[in-house]
Amino acid sequence: MDRNRFENWLKNIYETREEEISCSECFDLAAHYVDLEITGQDAAARMPALKQHLDQCRACRDEYETLRDLRILEEMGDLPSLDDLRNSIP
Ligand SMILES: [Zn+2]
Repeated sequence: MDRNRFENWLKNIYETREEEISCSECFDLAAHYVDLEITGQDAAARMPALKQHLDQCRACRDEYETLRDLRILEEMGDLPSLDDLRNSIP
């Protein structure tokens, strides 16, 4: 973690004191959030605390968008799944 990132992280903590979840929790839950979205469910309604965090935290938003893009590619079959990768290893 470089200095700027660390300061942003601290800033986020103090500016989002009323947040119910932390960045590490957000990171853990992001994959599930993306799954809900991909399967056509209302992810924001199901996980409002996470949605709120994503709206406020740039770092987690970037993380979530990357995750979502990867999942969309996966759904389209453009990306090999983890199982495919494992199977392709002799
Ligand atoms: Zn965050």
